[in-house]
Amino acid sequence: HKQVTILGVPFTHTNQNDFVQLLKQRIESEQKTFVVTANPEIVMKANEDSNYMDTIKQANYIVADGIGVVKAAKILNQPLPERVTGYDTVMDLLNLANEHRYRIYLLGAKQEVLEKAVNKINTNYPNANIVGSHNGYFDWNHNQIAEEVASLQPDIVLVALGLPRQEQWIAQHIANFNKGIFIGVGGVFDALAG
Ligand code: UDP
Repeated sequence: HKQVTILGVPFTHTNQNDFVQLLKQRIESEQKTFVVTANPEIVMKANEDSNYMDTIKQANYIVADGIGVVKAAKILNQPLPERVTGYDTVMDLLNLANEHRYRIYLLGAKQEVLEKAVNKINTNYPNANIVGSHNGYFDWNHNQIAEEVASLQPDIVLVALGLPRQEQWIAQHIANFNKGIFIGVGGVFDALAG
């Protein structure tokens, strides 16, 4: 895939529809995939913190989350087709999961927010198969959650730990997983919970 580097961050040159089709193909062919939907906050953080830059560069795909990144790309004469937001990507993945009965794991947010998000997905996407979930307040030194994810073999793992934790968690554990789309989703569980 063609890339465009903006402020040191290598963005995938794609649009929302093509990107989701790509993720679907990677789910079906069981290719493990780390996705970062990079908003301006992530781009700025990566420029301040080289560890975080290295972490997000481990992603298979970094997409432009928001019009600010698309505008910056245009100003820098490296245009990107359109924004590919975390929120829209999660909604598209949930639709795909509902159509194809994909297995989903939710990690992150406060327990009550997580439970509301799970209920919302079960109501609105009844065929999506939520195989497990855990809130985002756990002891980082214990690996039980990663072990659970590895054994459940979800197709999609939504990680809502805020930045930089969500990308750090994925980068730290991805070697132990066989398949699945791993995507940091920021405040999306809060949005789903309403
Ligand atoms: N969060 C979490 N564990 C943490 C920190 C944050 O689960 O240690 C969750 C938080 O409850 C919220 C989500 O991550 O659901 C996004 O948090 P925040 O808005 O602070 O992060 P940002 O959107 O700025 O990345």
